[in-house]
Amino acid sequence: MHKKMLSQEVVDGFHSAISEQQIYPYYQPQINHSTGRMVGAEALMRWGHPEFGLQLPSDFIPILEDYDLIYSADIYIFECVCRFLRKCLDDCIPVVPISVNMSRYDIFRHEYVDEIEKIRKQYDIPVKFLRIEITESSAIGGMELMIEVIGRLKACGYVVEMDDFGSGYSSLNVLKNLDVDMIKLDIGFLDGGVGGRGGIILSSVVQMAKWLGTPVIAEGVETAEQADYMKSLGCNYIQGFLYSKPIPEDEFRKMLLQTVHEPTVPPLTLINAMNAGRFWNPDSMETLIFSNFVGAAALFSYEEGKVELLRVNEKYTQEMAMNMSAQEVIGLNPREGLNEDNWKIFEATIKKAIASGDEESCETWRDLYSKCCGDDRICIRSNLRVIGFAGKQYLIYAMVQNITAEKKNFRDVYDSDQRFRHASEQINVYAWEYTFATKEMRPCFRCMRDLGLPAIVRNYPEPLIESRIIPEDFADMYRNWLRRLEEGEEHIEGVVPLTIGRIPFYFRYTTEFDENGKPLKAYGSATLIPEEEEAQKK
Ligand code: C2E
Ligand code: CA
Ligand code: CA
Repeated sequence: MHKKMLSQEVVDGFHSAISEQQIYPYYQPQINHSTGRMVGAEALMRWGHPEFGLQLPSDFIPILEDYDLIYSADIYIFECVCRFLRKCLDDCIPVVPISVNMSRYDIFRHEYVDEIEKIRKQYDIPVKFLRIEITESSAIGGMELMIEVIGRLKACGYVVEMDDFGSGYSSLNVLKNLDVDMIKLDIGFLDGGVGGRGGIILSSVVQMAKWLGTPVIAEGVETAEQADYMKSLGCNYIQGFLYSKPIPEDEFRKMLLQTVHEPTVPPLTLINAMNAGRFWNPDSMETLIFSNFVGAAALFSYEEGKVELLRVNEKYTQEMAMNMSAQEVIGLNPREGLNEDNWKIFEATIKKAIASGDEESCETWRDLYSKCCGDDRICIRSNLRVIGFAGKQYLIYAMVQNITAEKKNFRDVYDSDQRFRHASEQINVYAWEYTFATKEMRPCFRCMRDLGLPAIVRNYPEPLIESRIIPEDFADMYRNWLRRLEEGEEHIEGVVPLTIGRIPFYFRYTTEFDENGKPLKAYGSATLIPEEEEAQKK
């Protein structure tokens, strides 16, 4: 039996509902997903209407808010929770801290803190068993008022939780100004899946919270997959249907008896000295630049040998991770893939940047593994700069550049150049090697420089024919040479005019065979035919 109440029915019925105890809290446990132990619970208002059935907050709280009745309701729920805790304590039932919701309109009631303190003392409940949940929307009364109320609650010893967190950067921005002890992150917006944009927001919020030293409770967790994902981000506290729906008082009392409890980690003090605050501000120039104009960049924290990625822009994932999502990148330990030597280089550069206060640069090789492409190595040039610090923790801005291609080219060029150096040193001689099996041609440095060739020319000689380095009327002859060499001819020589200028070169090919006598490679060289010789021939 459930009927949605009309506004008038809510307003008219409210006072008798309180006096007749039709309004009461349900309790929903909060569990440490790693240990399975209960760390707390939230009190959620219900209206068991004798005629219309059990009413959920969404049915009647907006109306109470509109008619200025929410304050009385909240105070009443707080009292119910104290009464419950008192009974448990008297009956020697082990209790956990209970979180009570404070409406955003309660912020205007200056008597709120005094009122709950009066009730708490009346029931003689240690303050450690009560927590107050406020939402970001309480900022309707202005940030200063919100900061003041939080300060007063904390001065009385209440743990203050920021409810419904996770709506993006603006939230991060609010957070760093507010001295809250815990963050409640509603993962409902994930719609079941942990991939994609939502996942990225989640992971950056969790990382950010970690950096601030603020514990996170994930709310609305319905599946083990979601809980495991949150755990992988370092967020173990879970509230949601996965463990339990909100349940009536007597059921919750049984649950308190049956489950093992543990305290949440003592909340750390929020780090105020965030010089880099502007980076979390969605409207700041820094953020604009970070997301749009700079190349691949990341923010990470460094503390005594530990690094943690806090934020990466899109270009970073492209540059660093090839086919990984930003979420996978954030979840990644930035040390992962760096072997001992490369980590040493990287850490030394961090320390240099800390000491100098300037930008410092290093190049490190990283091993990557991806599901589709297997193992790979990439070379990253990082420019590091410290942009904020708090205690021993440093916030570091990194601009990164994937210079793998550059490096690999250089290495290939270097190798082939060594091989052909002798030939290349002779004036006007170009040299290269051609591998039959792969149809790859590796030119010497001079070929690359003078003809603009890459380190490896694939499907040789077609790209040179296409780009008219080898003229079309010589193409078939030239292809035929390569075929003959592949079939086992040891030497081929002849004249080939090169480029559209048709500059005549004398080509020489020598074949190299493997131990079974199978042709392996052909070494080619091209020597400029001096003009007078050319004239003589004519
Ligand atoms: P909230 O503070 O964000 O409370 C969490 C809501 O999520 C609760 O809804 C809870 O039942 C629901 N929930 C918990 N786990 C799951 C889950 O796994 N999946 C889904 N889909 N939902 C889950 P509820 O009890 O209907 O409360 C709704 C809202 O009403 C609360 O949101 C809170 O803003 C407000 N509210 C509840 N009790 C009070 C109160 O005593 N005072 C005030 N001012 N507001 C209250
Ligand atoms: Ca809440
Ligand atoms: Ca919530």
